[in-house]
Amino acid sequence: MPQTTAHSTQTPEELDVVIVGAGYSGIHQLYHYRKQGYSVRILEAESDLGGAWWWTRYPGARVDSESPFYQLSIEEVWKDWVWTERFPCRDEVCEYYQHVERTLGIKKNIRFNSRVVSAKFNDTLNRWVITTKDGFVVHPRFFILAIGAASKPHTPPFADFQSFKGICIHTASWPEGLVTKGKRVAVIGTGASGVQVIQSIGPEVKHLTVFQRTPNYALAMQQQKLDKEIQQKSKRLFPDMFRRCRQTPNGFSFDRYPKSLHVTTPEERLLFFEDLWTAGGWRFVTNNYMDIFSDQAVNDEAYFFWRNKICERVHDPVMQEKLAPTSPPYPFGSKRPSLEINYYDVFNQPNVDLVDLTQCEISRFTPSGIQTADGVEHTFDIVVLATGFHTFTGPYTDLKVQAADGTDILEKWANGVYSYLGMTVHGFPNFFYMYGPQSPGACNGPTCSEVQSDWIVGCVSHAMKQCFTRIEATREAEIEYRRLILELNARSLSRSTSEPTNFKGDLAQYGRLCLEVTDDGYRGFVFSSQVESRALL
Ligand code: NAP
Repeated sequence: MPQTTAHSTQTPEELDVVIVGAGYSGIHQLYHYRKQGYSVRILEAESDLGGAWWWTRYPGARVDSESPFYQLSIEEVWKDWVWTERFPCRDEVCEYYQHVERTLGIKKNIRFNSRVVSAKFNDTLNRWVITTKDGFVVHPRFFILAIGAASKPHTPPFADFQSFKGICIHTASWPEGLVTKGKRVAVIGTGASGVQVIQSIGPEVKHLTVFQRTPNYALAMQQQKLDKEIQQKSKRLFPDMFRRCRQTPNGFSFDRYPKSLHVTTPEERLLFFEDLWTAGGWRFVTNNYMDIFSDQAVNDEAYFFWRNKICERVHDPVMQEKLAPTSPPYPFGSKRPSLEINYYDVFNQPNVDLVDLTQCEISRFTPSGIQTADGVEHTFDIVVLATGFHTFTGPYTDLKVQAADGTDILEKWANGVYSYLGMTVHGFPNFFYMYGPQSPGACNGPTCSEVQSDWIVGCVSHAMKQCFTRIEATREAEIEYRRLILELNARSLSRSTSEPTNFKGDLAQYGRLCLEVTDDGYRGFVFSSQVESRALL
């Protein structure tokens, strides 16, 4: 009988697999393990399904991926579901998750309100010892982290931050019922959340000041209502569509245009750009000329087409320069562009200002607002921090993942991230993570998570069928993978000068690499079967 821990009097459950997180990644994992008859449980910190969509409640929250691609490829689920809009809002995504529950009945395998605080590998048991905040302990053979990249909000260390007497909120924890109408509001940050909040509350607030560090090259969403019957008819194509999504650079069924911009005439490229713009969404980036990310001149041409579109919408030349500078501040499409509906129109309103933080920094917070470097004090009722997340290794700060000798994964990564395939780590056996450091980044979330999920399920099943109790990536394999990550980063127009966070190749290339590893007898992994001893636990 296993001993209980200091935290709990409960006898630890012994399971084949424990997954953390009930978003797309976690549910896809659960579905496949259950199908194969393994004992499995999801531990979810929140009280319902949906992952980030469950707690993302800021006004205007909406998916930036087109709806057919933003769903699970599980037939039982998609066959009876239709979306109402091309780019669904947060509430519709949450409703979709309830449809997943009605179809698959997964909640019985999920323990909600269970925030995992520690996970340590036990070398004797060859199992993980996982503990939640409320003292629940579980001992799975395999431990899967499916918590996404954006689970730890980033609040910049602004001077005198606590002195502000008004309401200050992060987009990750938008309070129910907060009224912005008629209020003086600041929004700091113009990333994915910032753009959506700004265009949603901009038309109704008394005054809005946007603090922008880097302009967002936001693209026209071209939102549409969707017809139920047309969607139902298109479902015969879904199996091919989902397969095709894995064969493209960004996880959608469409690809870059197989032609260089240099072999086209100015008329041809103008009409082509117009077509992509009208198609809407990310197509102006994903379907553009094949050399858009390898040739700076091509990239610049796309930038100036985009800039002209924005300048047609924004009336004031000073505002135009802030939102769409004459000189591109970074390569076009190298940072995730938002999709907008009325974002640029908001900046034509007389009650909307934009502070360009590259020209005038935030000096400090004051009891009534924010003081900038030019000495001006801006007064606000509400400050919205749309400042994003600690996206790289951030989720691992609160959820401690430890090797058998007590080494924390963040200690291991202190001098550079080493992983194998952006999913496994040497020294941390029987552990897999999804959509984290060194995983593909610039792609449709559900496609990427299913590519990884299928690979992990295959690897775990292989181990279970062969009665291996332990799988571990070799040090050599992760050194080799890191070399690839650095090489891809160096070749990319969006290369980072610091630690590259993601696999910067195409999703299709990543998928092929994972399959090669499998076909090569799980190259880079050591499998072993050690007899369990319970003596030390
Ligand atoms: P984000 O896209 O990383 O944007 C953060 C913003 O805050 C950036 O504009 C950043 O400027 C700014 N910022 C950070 N620190 C700052 C500082 N000290 N002073 C001033 N500005 C600062 O974060 P997010 O909007 O929360 O989105 C995070 C991720 O969640 C996205 O990448 C996306 O994957 C996901 N998301 C998706 C959707 C969707 O599908 N519609 C919606 C929301 C979120 P810099 O650019 O200069 O760093």
